[in-house]
Amino acid sequence: MVEMLGSVRLRIAAFVLLIVAAFAALGVYVVRQVDSDMRANAEAYLGSQASVVANAVRPLLEDGAPQPAIDALVKRLGAGVDSRITVIAADGAVLGDSETDPATMENHGDRPEVRQALATGEGAAQRHSSTLGVDFSYVARTVFAGGGPPVVVRVAQPLAAIDSTLSDITRSIVTAVIVTGALAALLSLIVGSAIVRPLQRLAVAARNFGSGDLKGRVSPRPSGEAGEVADAFNQMAEDLDEMMSSLSEERSRLRAVLDSSSDGVVALDAEGSVTLVNRAAERLLGRQEDLLGHSLAWALPDDGALRAVQASREGKSRETAVVEQSGGRSLLLTVEPIADGGRWVSLLVLRDITESKRLEETRRDFIANVSHELRTPLASIKAVIETLQSGALDDKAAAQEFLVRADAEVDHLARMVTELLELSRLESGQAPFTKEPVDIGPVLSRAVERMRPQAERKGLRLDLDIAPGLPTIVGDAERLEQATVNLLDNAVKFTPEGGSVRVSARLADAAVEVEVTDTGIGIAREKLPRIFERFYKAGSSQVDRGTGLGLAIVKHIIESFGGTVSVDSTEGQGSTFRFSIPVADS
Ligand code: ADP
Repeated sequence: MVEMLGSVRLRIAAFVLLIVAAFAALGVYVVRQVDSDMRANAEAYLGSQASVVANAVRPLLEDGAPQPAIDALVKRLGAGVDSRITVIAADGAVLGDSETDPATMENHGDRPEVRQALATGEGAAQRHSSTLGVDFSYVARTVFAGGGPPVVVRVAQPLAAIDSTLSDITRSIVTAVIVTGALAALLSLIVGSAIVRPLQRLAVAARNFGSGDLKGRVSPRPSGEAGEVADAFNQMAEDLDEMMSSLSEERSRLRAVLDSSSDGVVALDAEGSVTLVNRAAERLLGRQEDLLGHSLAWALPDDGALRAVQASREGKSRETAVVEQSGGRSLLLTVEPIADGGRWVSLLVLRDITESKRLEETRRDFIANVSHELRTPLASIKAVIETLQSGALDDKAAAQEFLVRADAEVDHLARMVTELLELSRLESGQAPFTKEPVDIGPVLSRAVERMRPQAERKGLRLDLDIAPGLPTIVGDAERLEQATVNLLDNAVKFTPEGGSVRVSARLADAAVEVEVTDTGIGIAREKLPRIFERFYKAGSSQVDRGTGLGLAIVKHIIESFGGTVSVDSTEGQGSTFRFSIPVADS
């Protein structure tokens, strides 16, 4: 741009020079022409005067008049014109001169115009006069009279007049050239800057534009063609600005979509460096530093993942890998090859499959447990039937005993199925749950009253202790009663005769805490962490004919109201099962 501006000025300067040179050449030509024209005119003029003088002198010569008479005539003629008149004899002696005494004048036989006239009858010369010391134009004619030697009449005029006229013309022309040149220069300066200034404005706007300022416009609008260029430029800036903002809008939309995804997304360029990473990926990769620009090997140091990326790039295919992270988290990595302008880049999607893997394992365990739990009572029933078939049926007393056993097994199976169904209904959200303010006191006393007959049958003491003024909690009274009954059922079951069971409720840290304490057999310390799992039984199956589902149901009910469950137990001394539920916001 700068060179272009320079060249605009240079071009204008060249034009100015051309104009000045043309004027100068014209001036030189005119001066030359005028000079030669004037000299030719002067010569013609002098020629005609010479003819007149020759005619005047001829009679004197024919009469053989003496030299002073010729001189006197010449002086007389000369007084009437502005020319100098000289008459010269063939030998060069001056016979008469209109301005000087011939006696004082040197021989003029060697003067070129005289020699020319003697030779051809006419002569002319322009030269310096040695007599008068200035430049003269001379014209000479020969006069023949009376058969004597010819005489030369010469008329002369100083060239000073022509010279001064010429120098006047020259001066005028030089002045004209200078004035024209100056005017042309001034004009071109004005025109030049009229062209250059808008261009400079365009250049500045373009530079701002290049440095990212798309809001800048060429202003004020230049006139003429530059204005059209500026309009086009401004329009382009506006279009680009719009395009850029819609692009960045698009970008932030994409960013928002990417960031709201729970799957991690990472893009790698052809060199394998990270060029894009969303929030979920940052979280899943667990790197505090900015991942951009780093290699995948740094961001996700896992051989399987690197192999999948490599294979995807080489085979242009989708690859998957499971990445086991420290801390027990599992990620499913999907690598998708993407063609980006002829180059292949990789798009990585990371999904946290820890939970689904855990669920899958739980499901597998559950099925194994259910099968195992069903097999034992079924095998017993099968054994009873076989025994009866093989003759025990005839022994009435034994048959009765076998039937009682079979009945107990069927009861156990039925209870297990009922509890399983209950648990599955609770977990799937099918069981009707209400969430309303509940006063825990009546709930606990209903549960205690339900269990009292069983406790009394075993000779156990059963106490209920409810702190006065307990706030209400949010939950489902029926479900809470069921949870309490489950806990009481265990307490009664695992407490030997003569023991005691106590239910208490109090306020603790904005929650109502319920405890079921017994003086029973207790639970081994190492078994406590798993006590709330489905099918988990702490005791041997011979002693304990439970299903292992009761506590799982309790945990599920309490947690669905935002509460927590816990247990303290000492083997041989007793257990305390505890649940607490936040009080309702008043
Ligand atoms: P179950 O139907 O077998 O009682 P639970 O889930 O209610 O199933 O209990 C799981 C296991 O926890 C029981 O098998 C028992 O070993 C132990 N347990 C529960 N409550 C008590 C308690 N009060 N005292 C001792 N052991 C208990």
